[in-house]
Amino acid sequence: MKIEFKKKFGQNFLTDTNLLAAIAKDSEIDSQTTVVEVGPGAGALTRELAKVSKCVYAFEIDTDLKEILDENLKGYNNVKVVFRDFLKMPNEDLKAVAGTGFAVVANLPYYITSPLITKFLTCGLEPKSLTVMVQKEVGERIVAKPATKDYGVLSVMVQLCGIPEIKRFVGRQMFTPAPNVDSCIVHLSSIKTPKNYERIVEFVKGCFASRRKTLSNNLSKMFEKDDVADVLAEAEIDPSVRAETLSAKEFEKLFQLFDKICQNRL
Ligand code: SAM
Repeated sequence: MKIEFKKKFGQNFLTDTNLLAAIAKDSEIDSQTTVVEVGPGAGALTRELAKVSKCVYAFEIDTDLKEILDENLKGYNNVKVVFRDFLKMPNEDLKAVAGTGFAVVANLPYYITSPLITKFLTCGLEPKSLTVMVQKEVGERIVAKPATKDYGVLSVMVQLCGIPEIKRFVGRQMFTPAPNVDSCIVHLSSIKTPKNYERIVEFVKGCFASRRKTLSNNLSKMFEKDDVADVLAEAEIDPSVRAETLSAKEFEKLFQLFDKICQNRL
C-alpha cells in the first residue's frame, strides 16, 4: 500500500524491524504493561510493542492512515487505534481509554516533543515511564548534567520528574523519508512529578533568564534582594554561582523556600 508522507504531521517512518524491536526493548515494558503510543504511523513500532506488552492504545492524528493501520495490525488483538489529535485530547479522555500507570512510547514529530513531554508530566495519570524518539541535540539537553554546556531549562524540567537516559542514537537514514537531523531514544524512568510543577518550571525559567548573570542576580528580578540573600544562605548556595550549576533537586528546594516566604506574607 502506497503512503503519502505528510510533512505537516512530521511523518518520517521507521521500517527496520531490528531497530523497532530494539526500541520496544528500550522501553522496558513487560506483559503486564499497558502502553500509550502517540503517532503509530503505519503501525510498525505498534506491532513490536504489542508483542511485548499487555495492550497498546495508539493515538494517531491522520485518519488517512486507517486503511494501512488496519492492514498492518490485523491479528494484533491487544491493539486499539484511536484517531485523535493527542495534544488536544483532554486528560480525562486519555484516562477513560488507557487508565493510569501506563508506559508511554512515541516516535514523535519533533515539533511536538516539548508540549507532549509536558502533557505527560502534568496529566496526573502517573505514567510509569516515557520512551520517546527526539532530535539528538534535544536528547542531549534532556540528559545533560549541571555545569555542562547542554544543561538548561529543558534538562531541569525533565530531571525534576524522573531519571532520563539516552538508550540509543538513530541516524537520519533510518527514516523514510529521511529528516534533516539525527535522533535518539530517551527513556525516562522513576517518574514522580513534584507538587507545584508548573510553578517550579516558571521559577527555573526565571533563574536561567540571563545565562551570563549570577543566580542571585536572576533571582533578584523575581524576589526582594534581602529574601534572595536569606534563602541562598539557608540553602547553603553560594550567591555568585550561575543557575546552570544547580541540580533539579536544588531548584526544587530553592523554590520551596521562596514559596514559604511568599505564603507567610499572604
Ligand atoms: N510510529 C511511526 C514510526 O515509528 O514509523 C510513525 C512516526 S512519525 C515520526 C509521527 C507520527 O505521529 C505520524 O504518524 C503522525 O501522523 C503522528 N502525529 C503527528 N502529530 C500528532 C498528534 N498531535 N496526535 C497524534 N498523532 C500525531
